[in-house]
Amino acid sequence: MKVTKFGGSSLANAFQIQKVCSIVLSDPDRRVVVVSAPGKRTKEDIKVTDLLIDVAKSRIAGADYKTPLSAVIARFEEITSELKIQSVLPEVISAVTEVVEAEIHDSVLYLDSVKAMGEDSSARVVAAYLNSTGHKAEYCNPKECGLFLEHNDIGKAVILEESYDNLSGLVKDSDTIYVFPGFYGYTKQGQIITFSRGGSDITGSILAGAIKAEVYENWTDVDSVYAVNPSLVNNPFPIREITYDEMRELAYAGFTVLHEDALFPVYVRGIPINIKNTNNPSAKGTWIVSKRTHYDSLVTGIAGEKGFCAVTVSKYLMNQQVGFLWNVMRIFMEEGISVEHIPSGIDTVSIIVRKKYFTPEKQEVICNRILKELNATDIKVERDLAIVMIVGEAMANSVGIMARAASALSNAGINLRIVNQGASEISMMFGVAESYCSYAVKVLYKELFRY
Ligand code: ASP
Repeated sequence: MKVTKFGGSSLANAFQIQKVCSIVLSDPDRRVVVVSAPGKRTKEDIKVTDLLIDVAKSRIAGADYKTPLSAVIARFEEITSELKIQSVLPEVISAVTEVVEAEIHDSVLYLDSVKAMGEDSSARVVAAYLNSTGHKAEYCNPKECGLFLEHNDIGKAVILEESYDNLSGLVKDSDTIYVFPGFYGYTKQGQIITFSRGGSDITGSILAGAIKAEVYENWTDVDSVYAVNPSLVNNPFPIREITYDEMRELAYAGFTVLHEDALFPVYVRGIPINIKNTNNPSAKGTWIVSKRTHYDSLVTGIAGEKGFCAVTVSKYLMNQQVGFLWNVMRIFMEEGISVEHIPSGIDTVSIIVRKKYFTPEKQEVICNRILKELNATDIKVERDLAIVMIVGEAMANSVGIMARAASALSNAGINLRIVNQGASEISMMFGVAESYCSYAVKVLYKELFRY
């Protein structure tokens, strides 16, 4: 069995929904379909989820929520009328209005419940359309199917483990297609809660894990994932295959293909992900796997992200002092700052942290504590650091990539503030000034993908 998830652009209008359904029907293994809310039809359009957020926020504020609500309903009117399934429209409208008009006890939960209605409506529409073409399909309600979540952070639900068991028997009938709304589930108290934005990817991954699917297909609007951000380079090299580990390393430097929480449920169960294009289904797409079968290139991908800080602590004879590093880490931990990387020298150590958490106030507290409590000789903070990652498992068996990368950057006049290669040799990390971030990625791409 395959779990097949379609993103918002694949459900933006009736024509796209027809494509989705013909993809589903073209392979009898596609038994579970997970859908997002309708996305943008044009560049200027508004996603249904954004309209719903507007509805909820306006109602909470006592402002006009009927205008955005009628825009949501108009989207589904148009879709159902073009698909000639008007009979499902009353069901869609009543599910949406029931949630929108509900009494507001808690504005966070209210916002989540309204936000989820785009996915809920999409699932009803897709199931109805499949039925109208003579196929057996069923809309799945996440509560009835047992997808239970809890709030970890506001608007950022996480799964309760028992859900996997509950969902394992989802596919009951051998000739029915199960259409499941993405993005949301229920608390044990019966309230709707959502994952963070883009969270339908997580629902697909959970369902693939629960039913032990042979593959998790994630359909979007590109032929493949590319070795570098396509907005930086023309015709970038397509990635046919990438491991979960490589993906994690690249995601770290801002290379996001799926929602970052969507990898885990399939990763731990060894289920491969296939990223595919709804607008070009015959393209092979990109496979995310545990173990690669072949390598098309030495380097799999290059990515860069701004927004890091390096805190460099110096202490004479640091290497001889037992527990110095531990104490530095303890101070960061006690101040609630997550540490990203720790490149170190003999008498210095650099702590790499994200600028958005390491505020100037936190910087002052942490630096003072390190100086006073640990008697550090010196401490320097650079707040304009970008991290550039070169990732590829094939690099482990080849000599000279670091030399090529470093000399390409130096020839381009880019100063390397930090260089780090993990012991696994799957990635190399460079710290450069933020202003050089995109330039460094382009220089490295030119050097390493030049054949
Ligand atoms: N519709 C939600 C969003 O726009 C979730 C999703 O599409 O995955 O974020």
